[in-house]
Amino acid sequence: MECTPTSAEPDWSSAQPLEEEKSLQEHPFTCSVSEITPTLLARMPYTWQPSSPVPQKDLRHLKITHYDFKGAVKLGEIVVHQAVVEDLQSIFAELFAIKFPIESMRFVDEFEGSDLQSMQANNSSAFYARKVAGTDRWSNHSFGCAIDINPRINPYSKGTFFTPPEGEKYLDRTKLVPGMITEETPIYQIFKTYGWEWGGECFYERDGVIDRHHFQKIVPGLNRSTN
Ligand SMILES: [Zn+2]
Repeated sequence: MECTPTSAEPDWSSAQPLEEEKSLQEHPFTCSVSEITPTLLARMPYTWQPSSPVPQKDLRHLKITHYDFKGAVKLGEIVVHQAVVEDLQSIFAELFAIKFPIESMRFVDEFEGSDLQSMQANNSSAFYARKVAGTDRWSNHSFGCAIDINPRINPYSKGTFFTPPEGEKYLDRTKLVPGMITEETPIYQIFKTYGWEWGGECFYERDGVIDRHHFQKIVPGLNRSTN
């Protein structure tokens, strides 16, 4: 029998977009990528320096949806090197899929450039042109190839020193809470799958540093594994 379209038949041309719309509502993950405009640069008076080891044209501004600790979807923003954009789009899509909670993703400039205040607020951030404390070496954050996640509940420590101070009760890593990073948590595995290093293990061990909120990617010809 010949099938002749009639007005009673479904309009297949509109069925597809409707299905897409439905999946968007069920999985509202978005990650937009744009270049660093002068307007954006004006919002980075602390994190951007003219002496930064990577040129402005190699950096990208990412606006990413993520879950917060109340289960609400928030829009965050980070600046990273263009070489790690694809990785991070995939990584944050996977984190979104498992509803990994992230307190906030705001520029450290909104904390007057204070990494401590940003950590105290449990804020996650990436690009920051700064030297490693006590050295003349650029941190991997200076290359836009490092990201700190939920730093208050994933504190940095070196021997008996730790920061931020509010992170003290989270030094016992056997008491897992949502948003924590350990070798047993999915976020650790997700970053490792894309070839990222975690500051909570081996590459810092020689200095006795455990940088639990820090992930970094080594891009050949750009940066190297150093703290
Ligand atoms: Zn870091």
